[in-house]
Amino acid sequence: MQYVSTRGHTLGTFTDVLLSGLAPDGGLAMPQSIPVLGTDQLEQLRHLSYPDLAYEVMRPFISDIPERDLRQLLQKTYQADTFGSPEITPLTPLGTSGLYLLELSNGPTLAFKDIAMQFLGHAFEYVLERENRRINILGATSGDTGSAAEYAMLGKDRINVFMLSPRGRMSRFQQAQMYSLNEPNIHNIAVEGVFDDCQDLVKAVNADAEFKARYDIGAVNSINWGRVLAQAVYYFRGYFALKLPAGAEADFCVPSGNFGNVFAGYLAKLMGLPIGQLVVASNENSVLNEFFEHGTYHVWPAERVAVTSSPSMDIGKASNFERYLYLISGQDAQQTQQWWEAVAGGQPVTLTGTLHWPHVTASGFRSGQSSHAQRLDTIRRIDREYGRLIDPHTADGVFVGERLKRAGIPMICLETALPAKFEETVYEAVGRLPERPERFAGLEARSRYASELPNDSEALKALIARALVARTLGDS
Ligand SMILES: *Cc1c(COP(=O)(O)O)cnc(C)c1O
Repeated sequence: MQYVSTRGHTLGTFTDVLLSGLAPDGGLAMPQSIPVLGTDQLEQLRHLSYPDLAYEVMRPFISDIPERDLRQLLQKTYQADTFGSPEITPLTPLGTSGLYLLELSNGPTLAFKDIAMQFLGHAFEYVLERENRRINILGATSGDTGSAAEYAMLGKDRINVFMLSPRGRMSRFQQAQMYSLNEPNIHNIAVEGVFDDCQDLVKAVNADAEFKARYDIGAVNSINWGRVLAQAVYYFRGYFALKLPAGAEADFCVPSGNFGNVFAGYLAKLMGLPIGQLVVASNENSVLNEFFEHGTYHVWPAERVAVTSSPSMDIGKASNFERYLYLISGQDAQQTQQWWEAVAGGQPVTLTGTLHWPHVTASGFRSGQSSHAQRLDTIRRIDREYGRLIDPHTADGVFVGERLKRAGIPMICLETALPAKFEETVYEAVGRLPERPERFAGLEARSRYASELPNDSEALKALIARALVARTLGDS
């Protein structure tokens, strides 16, 4: 399988795009074609174990890792020890409502991002070893991505992680989860600023091509194709767990921010999985809902993005959305580029009434949004009616999913984090603290290891250079 950029450049094979962020032309990596599985082929996947299913779903997109090695990578990644059960992503019905929770958050950091990030950890290690390379991952996080990346890269020889986070602005649990790591290859950097400042620092370092090349700077952000691909697997898994007759439809509802998770669902649908509606759930930051309701997409400036009680969805620019528009345009790179230049320049792009709108409608996407009050009410109600505590992001999904539930068609809501990770909001909703997995007992009391950094890219570069010199000396 060859990959191309959404802006037209040819990019190479899977391992070529795995380690890189944006394509050189500013676009995102996409497979040249998307293989479609027939009903008989789908039926053969029904009873596979998670790693075997992952192999069958991902294999067509990965032509440059030998079968044995890829199987081994997936076996190593999707273990009951890491994800709490051999199902990896168990499906739980909410009573007889026809709503289901697909549990994606039983991994090391209690959010769905572990599922793809754990794969990336093993896949990076494999490719770097094969090519005798090293990489220094530089990223910015508002909470979940950073911890998932750090726990996935822990102790990996050829990888260092430099993760910027806005000092004092994550949930107490999230801060403690990251800053309590005391590992030679993990560098937490608490920046004097907000999340956008962290992201700008990463951009500034990446803009320095000389520094970037000299220090092998890489990324694992949400546009990483390996993450999208690994996420497609659990849509298959969730669908098969319903035990529907062959070909019967199911709907999915996905709490969304950067459009990475739900885009993976769209990939599964394009591969032939009988998904009817793909419901995008937004919080108060409703750029995606605006598009699917009114046909207009535009980026919200940072000052318009609200700080909400489902913070991992506080995003004004859905970085994976370009992939969707690229497919909607009929893989027309020129059209995609034109749209994206408009969006980047602050102009809205409206697709209603154009040749493209019927493709949007046909793609099965629906959407909705939730407010703080609706989020709290949903957490309370699902607890009362089904005895099940959910986190604020999952609550956004359940709230929207309930509204768009079709009679007789199951609606699978993706559980994107465990309530323990956002206990302040859960406490506000139900007046008690959620259970916390034992390994996190007393987390907040542990020692913290984070460097403090002013909002200054030169200071960041100096910190990276110093840390790498120290590591090299320590290694030898
Ligand atoms: C990252 C995240 C989301 C949003 O996922 P996208 O792939 O960015 O759309 C939703 N909920 C939680 C808990 C997250 O960590």
